[in-house]
Amino acid sequence: MEVKKIITLPGDGIGPEVVAQGVALLKAFGGPLEMRFEFEEHPAGGACLKQYNEPIREETLEACRQADAVLLGAVGAPEFDNNPAHLRPEKGLLKLRAALGVYCNLRPARLYNTLADASPLKKEIVSGIDLMVVRELTGGIYFGEPAGFLEKNGLRTSLNTMVYDENEIRRIARKAFELAAKRRGHLTSVDKANVLTVSQLWRKVVDEVAEEYPNVTLSHMLVDNCAMQLVRNPRQFDVILTGNLFGDILSDEASVLTGSIGMLPSASLGDGTPLYEPVHGSAPDIAGQNKANPVAMLASLAMMFQYSFDRPEAAAAIEAAIEEMLEAGFHTADLNLPDGHCLGTKEMGEKITGTAVKRLQESFATV
Ligand code: NAD
Repeated sequence: MEVKKIITLPGDGIGPEVVAQGVALLKAFGGPLEMRFEFEEHPAGGACLKQYNEPIREETLEACRQADAVLLGAVGAPEFDNNPAHLRPEKGLLKLRAALGVYCNLRPARLYNTLADASPLKKEIVSGIDLMVVRELTGGIYFGEPAGFLEKNGLRTSLNTMVYDENEIRRIARKAFELAAKRRGHLTSVDKANVLTVSQLWRKVVDEVAEEYPNVTLSHMLVDNCAMQLVRNPRQFDVILTGNLFGDILSDEASVLTGSIGMLPSASLGDGTPLYEPVHGSAPDIAGQNKANPVAMLASLAMMFQYSFDRPEAAAAIEAAIEEMLEAGFHTADLNLPDGHCLGTKEMGEKITGTAVKRLQESFATV
C-alpha cells in the first residue's frame, strides 16, 4: 500500500476549520485509492508565536522537508499586527516557502457555472473561464539585491533589484510548458520586454525552452496588456507564465473573476516537498463560527492528487463533487446564492467528501 506522509499546518483563524475538512477527505479517500495518509500536525503562524514565540520552528521546517506534501490552512491574526517583521505570522509562511524551495506557484482560476453571477464581470465575459497562472515564487524583485533605503544627493532614496538568471527562468518555463501540454496546449508568457532588460532575457529563454515543446503554442504578452485582457476576454487564456511581481498582481486579478476567495486553491512546487494551501487568509471575522468555505482547501487537495501524487482520477472526483454540490444549490454563506441551501464549513465539507468518494468509486467501476 502506498503511504504518504502529510504535514498539516492549520495555522490561525479559519485555518484549522478548513484543514480539518481536508484531513477528513484524505482519510475517506485512503480506502478507495489503496493509499494510507499519515498526518503530523505542527503549529505555524500566530499559533506558533503563542506557543514558542517564533512564527515557525526549525523542527517543523525539517519535518516538512521530509514529508510527501504540506497542507497549510492560513496564518495571521490581528493581535500580531503590530509585531516586528520577524515576529509576524506571515514570516512563518515566507520561511516555509524558502525552506521548501517552492519556486513555482500555480493558481488556477476556474468559474463554476453556478457562480457566474458572483463574478464582478458580466456573465457572457466570464462564463467558461479556466486558466492557470504560473508564477515564479522565489526570485525576481522580491528577493533581488541590492535592496533597501539609502541617502542619495541628500534625499531619502530606496531601491529594489529585479534580477533573474537564465536557470531560474528555464526551470519555471519548463513547468509551465509541461502544464500547458497537459491542458489546452497554449502558453502566454507575460513580461515587460519593451522596457526591462530582465524581461528581454526572460523572453529569449522562454523562446529557447519552447523548442522542447512543439505541441504547445507560445505567445508573449506585455503585462499591461495582460491586465487588460484578463477583464476584457479572459477565456483566451490557458496557461499564463510570469515572474514574481507580475504574477502576484495578475493572479489576484484572475482569481477575483471567479467569485469568492473561499473557492480558490493553490499549489507551490519546487524540487522537494510541495505545499498546498487555499489562496485565502485566516479570515478572523468569521473564525470559529463554522462559516468558512472549505472549497479552496478541498480543491487544493485535487491539485495535490493531480500534480504530486499522480492520481488524476482522485483530482477529477473532488472537482466533480464540488461542481455537483454547487449545482445542487449547496453553498457556504460567502457565496450568497439566493435559492440555495446555506451550510456550515463542516456540513459543506462532508457533502463534498461524501460525493467525491462516490465519484471516485464509480470511476474505478467504469475502468
Ligand atoms: P482573508 O482572505 O483572510 O479575508 C478576506 C475576506 O474574505 C474576509 O471577509 C473573510 O471573511 C473572507 N474569506 C476568506 N476566506 C474565506 C473562506 N474560506 N470562506 C468564507 N469567507 C472567506 O484576507 P484578510 O482579511 O486580508 O487577511 C486576514 C489575515 O490573513 C491577515 O492577518 C493576513 O495577513 C492573513 N493572510 C494570510 C494568508 C495566508 O496564510 N496564505 C493569505 C492572505 C492573508
